[in-house]
Amino acid sequence: MNAEIIAVGSELLLGQIVNTNARFLSQQLAELGINVYYHTVVGDNPQRLKDTIEIAESRSNLIIFTGGLGPTKDDLTKETIARHLNKQLIMDEQALQQIELYFERSNRIMTENNKKQAIILEDSQVLPNEHGMAPGMLLDADNLLYMLLPGPPKEMEPMFLKYGYSILRTKLHDEDVIVSRVLRFFGIGEAMLETEIEDLIDSQSNPTIAPLASDGEVTLRLTAKHNQMETALQLLDETEEAILSRVGNYFYGYDDTSLMNETIKLLNDQGLTISCAESLTGGMFQQEFTSIPGASAILKGGVVCYTNEVKANVLNVSEKTIKEEGVVSAQCALELAEKVSKLMNSDIGISFTGVAGPDQIEGKTIGTVYIGIFMKGQTVQVEELHFGGTRESIRTRSVKYGCYLLIK
Ligand code: ATP
Ligand code: MG
Repeated sequence: MNAEIIAVGSELLLGQIVNTNARFLSQQLAELGINVYYHTVVGDNPQRLKDTIEIAESRSNLIIFTGGLGPTKDDLTKETIARHLNKQLIMDEQALQQIELYFERSNRIMTENNKKQAIILEDSQVLPNEHGMAPGMLLDADNLLYMLLPGPPKEMEPMFLKYGYSILRTKLHDEDVIVSRVLRFFGIGEAMLETEIEDLIDSQSNPTIAPLASDGEVTLRLTAKHNQMETALQLLDETEEAILSRVGNYFYGYDDTSLMNETIKLLNDQGLTISCAESLTGGMFQQEFTSIPGASAILKGGVVCYTNEVKANVLNVSEKTIKEEGVVSAQCALELAEKVSKLMNSDIGISFTGVAGPDQIEGKTIGTVYIGIFMKGQTVQVEELHFGGTRESIRTRSVKYGCYLLIK
């Protein structure tokens, strides 16, 4: 089963909005084990939409449309599909009632063109819209599946999750159960990880293994199909084991977790508190930390020590270190981590100092980063890193690397 996602809307082509619908649907289809081979974007123009549909029909057997189901003149998706497939457009009484109810509830006057939203393609199955007015549709015609979804993500996403997903599942795989699991890695590049498991990726079709890299992280999505749930899970377990036996050192968690999440979980489990001295990252570590519920029991506080003055006066980094080693140095990172932990009376102190650019500091190249970790009564550790990329990505990667060092 090959799918194509057609996003309809001139505002996408004008660059006014980003096609997040395609991203969402692709992720969902991947979870179902359906291959998505094409994303298409087309404006609100009936002729070009028709051309687009014809191309899609020649190469895909599931075509998902988003957008253009609304009441205004430029909303042309279902009219164009109806004409193209020779289908009538009929009023769906249930959908109409829903729309009337929607207006009644929100105390607004319903205009005639709003009724247009209750018109559906004959022979189609309605996907109710619980967050707006225009219903979605699924049409099975000549061995092709057409799914029509509204444009606004807050209507489209819940509609797909509640109705679209399970309908596709039954349509596609009869009895098969599909389970998927994401393995998350850090500290290894995508190319290296793929090389390590290339033979597995090439030789396996159940589960499939799909790699994805972003922001210094690599994930592998494993998707298994079987008519027994237990067997499908077992297939996942076996493949996971084979993968982790090779690159397990870099593995840090499953599915939607994040490095920060895992860090907080670990510190929580061990009953440890932390504080932070942030030069390079200017508070990013703490910002991310505190965005996760439950952080308050663990994070004592921190210092954004952007200037040398604050490093020296607030955190007591020695004059000798600043003069002789510089503020972008292993020694400075160590002192920052130790001093902040003492100042805040925490079990762990972590520090970030480095050069994010655009200018060099102390003759050190852009991307040079030192992360210091001080553990009360135990060890100190400092890591020297060299990142490529933009100012922003150097900073984000540093925060991630800090978490990675804490959980390793
Ligand atoms: P409406 O009833 O709101 O008119 P519609 O189904 O007709 O919905 P459109 O008119 O095409 O959808 O788009 C409405 C809004 O939905 C857009 O202004 C945009 O904010 C959002 N939207 C549409 N398509 C996408 C997309 N592909 N990705 C993200 N957002 C989108
Ligand atoms: Mg619209």
